[in-house]
Amino acid sequence: MRKERRRELRDSWAQLTRGRSFVLACHQRPDGDALGSALALARVLRGQGKDVVVVCEDGVPDNYRFIPDSDTVLLSTNRRGFDVGVLVDCESVKRIGSAKDALLSSSITACIDHHLPNGEFGDIRIIDPEASATAELVFELFSANGIPIDRDLATQLMAGIVGDTGAFKFANTNARTFRIASRLAAAGARASDIAREIYESHSLPAMRLLGRALCSLTMHPSGRIVWAQVTKKDLDELDATDADTEGIVNLVRWVKGPDVAILFRETKPGSIRISLRSTDDFDVERIARVFGGGGHKAAAGCTIEGSLDSARELLIGEVLKWMESST
Ligand code: 5GP
Ligand code: MN
Repeated sequence: MRKERRRELRDSWAQLTRGRSFVLACHQRPDGDALGSALALARVLRGQGKDVVVVCEDGVPDNYRFIPDSDTVLLSTNRRGFDVGVLVDCESVKRIGSAKDALLSSSITACIDHHLPNGEFGDIRIIDPEASATAELVFELFSANGIPIDRDLATQLMAGIVGDTGAFKFANTNARTFRIASRLAAAGARASDIAREIYESHSLPAMRLLGRALCSLTMHPSGRIVWAQVTKKDLDELDATDADTEGIVNLVRWVKGPDVAILFRETKPGSIRISLRSTDDFDVERIARVFGGGGHKAAAGCTIEGSLDSARELLIGEVLKWMESST
């Protein structure tokens, strides 16, 4: 780590830890990175005698319950007036639902995130879109401040890295990722156990839902876009939940050839959640942004109100427009 960055991280930590009460907010539909990063921060702050609540409107999905302290996550809080409010793994208070009021009631706010910057939230900002996971930034924050990493902390942070790199397979995996993962492994985190917990712990309805989604796979005539969908009817018939749709898009990406893989999810009638993945250099974040979403260059998401058919038409139209303008 460069000297200058180490100094910045020391300053940020000094500023943060001047507070006594903390609210840490994860984004809705949390993943291993949001939960692992927030819980790691909470663990260290609590170790220093701070009063910390971690709030995540949607709670902890079953496959992330192995993360140490995940049972401490609150769905909401009525408390206000925290000393510090931290937005973890996202940059927009729009993505934290009801936790927004608690966060905004804090005397100072902070944001720790690795998405492409999409705002200016936070008096203290630790933002680096080059990081594969927010957990990397949390690790660097701890490391710059001489905070020792025990096995639980290592597991929390490794959950973030394994989650956001698809178990070290996505294009965001780089030397820095492995350097940090190596330190976490040495501290006792078991990457293979974590990968199994996150990726290979499906319920039967979730597996059947995956099968049905794969049956819907369709290649756009251009050959550059492949998509699949999950309807509300699929969820109801298979007794599957919205959380069971997580990760399906990564299998849509397995189709060889297209530049963009898309999953359309009718999570409730009239509201279509969209996950975009690019397999090449195509930037899907700018597509998601057109519809009020965001994310990373190779993995982004948004929601379009309307029917599945109209959302699909709108979104694919936008992808084609960008493809045409960039060739
Ligand atoms: P996923 O497709 O797995 O839900 O999300 C892919 C990436 O895009 C994640 O990094 C996620 O945080 C981000 N993302 C998904 N949906 C949204 C959204 O509605 N708004 C923003 N800003 N980012 C999103
Ligand atoms: Mn993340």
